Amino acid sequence: MQPEYPDTLLFIDGEWRAANDDATLNVLNPATEMVIGTVARASRVELDAAAQAAARGFDVWRKKSPLERSNLMRAAADLLRSRVDRIAEIMTLEQGKPLEQSRIELRAAADIIDWFAEEGRRTYGQVIPARQPDVMQLAVKHPIGPVAAFTPWNFPINQAVRKIAVALAAGCSIVVKAPEETPAAPAELIRAFADAGVPAGVVGLVYGVPAEISEHLIAHPAIRKISFTGSTPVGKLLAGLAGQQMKPATMELGGHAPVLVAADADLDKAVAQMVAHKFRNAGQVCISPTRFLVEEPLFDSFVDKFVAATEMLVVGDGFSPDSDIGPLANSRRIPAIEALLQDATAQGARIVTGGERVGNKGWFFEPTVVTDAPASAQIMNEEPFGPVAIINRYATLDAMIEEANRLDYGLASYAYARDHTTIHRFANEVSAGMMSINHVGLALPELPFGGVRDSGYGTEGGSDAINAYLDTHFATIKA
Ligand code: NAD
Repeated sequence: MQPEYPDTLLFIDGEWRAANDDATLNVLNPATEMVIGTVARASRVELDAAAQAAARGFDVWRKKSPLERSNLMRAAADLLRSRVDRIAEIMTLEQGKPLEQSRIELRAAADIIDWFAEEGRRTYGQVIPARQPDVMQLAVKHPIGPVAAFTPWNFPINQAVRKIAVALAAGCSIVVKAPEETPAAPAELIRAFADAGVPAGVVGLVYGVPAEISEHLIAHPAIRKISFTGSTPVGKLLAGLAGQQMKPATMELGGHAPVLVAADADLDKAVAQMVAHKFRNAGQVCISPTRFLVEEPLFDSFVDKFVAATEMLVVGDGFSPDSDIGPLANSRRIPAIEALLQDATAQGARIVTGGERVGNKGWFFEPTVVTDAPASAQIMNEEPFGPVAIINRYATLDAMIEEANRLDYGLASYAYARDHTTIHRFANEVSAGMMSINHVGLALPELPFGGVRDSGYGTEGGSDAINAYLDTHFATIKA
């Protein structure tokens, strides 16, 4: 028997409430396509209420000391940890990922909250030496104000927690528009903050029609900062709306991560790490390794081993302990991936394993390996955002680096090599926000997390992340 799934309400001014007109949207289980519950659909009335509550919440929260804020945040992290098993079930029901992957996401979320809780205590300013002895010059960091955040469905908790933790640590309030497809897990995240004693209005949660909400909240005078995670086209739209209002934005957008595998790489390590990383969350990950650029002498053995390891993976319901890969989170991904594969094969690419939907109930898709896709194939240019690895051969390191840098995306990148000169070349010459060489080491709370060019701007991790939520106020004082 599957666990119970709760209906999700809006959280405004410290209260859980339905929409004024009781409007709701259905939530489906991607493993069964059955309706499992509903989520409240906000209208402008509730959005205004949420923004105004965030303005009042900001006044309260900014006046708390960084230590008080940190203590409340750490209490929320502890509550989240104590609720991992129940919330993980909710997340697997609505998003599909295997239960253990849901638990890992929740534990990671608690770590993110703890890390930013401490970082908020170190938002140092500067005392700048003056030109006269009786003048003191101070540059002080102030929280920027109420934040509007928009988060996607692939990591229902972690995409939201990165924004909430940094905003709260900086002393800002936040209204989150979490994903309508996976609403109940993020609601449990918000509940942990509320139960820990974070005051009313400091954290708000809304759902509805994404374009209506972003247009309304970004323009709302109470909102001072925007943060979005999702696709590049939507990111460009929201960055434009934010720009018109002179509101700064953090944009964590799409990627098409290259993996450069040099001829001297540790083949077994590269295959084991990359197969696990590629198919995690059914490949619906912005930093998912996607274009494997393999130096010619290693190509055949890399493909053989990669395919053998891929064929060991079990696709199934996230509640089955045997499942490595759950369903795709929404029905849109199936035709999108099928169309990309069709176009690739029409242009001469070869599907070596996978390539088909699994069954006709639930949005399951085989882990798929494609080789020899030409640069003109759509799949070499657009994020598949699903369980597809593309492996191509290159004669030289120069050709691999050129291909890695061909796209406008620049989020994650990976490389495997033993020779130090090769490793330095990859690290220096691949243009991406993040690079992980000879291991998988991205996305910890203390590390920068963000892209360049079409993959967005700003970071959602590390010390720099908090600066985007702070203003510098300068005072010069003469005795
Ligand atoms: P999409 O572009 O329609 O939506 C992506 C996300 O943005 C969703 O969460 C959606 O609710 C939200 N969104 C869409 N329009 C919006 C608007 N006008 N205002 C505010 N939010 C809006 O795509 P999709 O079909 O949901 O997802 C597929 C694509 O999205 C993938 O190809 C991938 O590029 C991207 N995506 C990226 C991430 C990431 O982690 N960077 C996460 C999810 C989806």
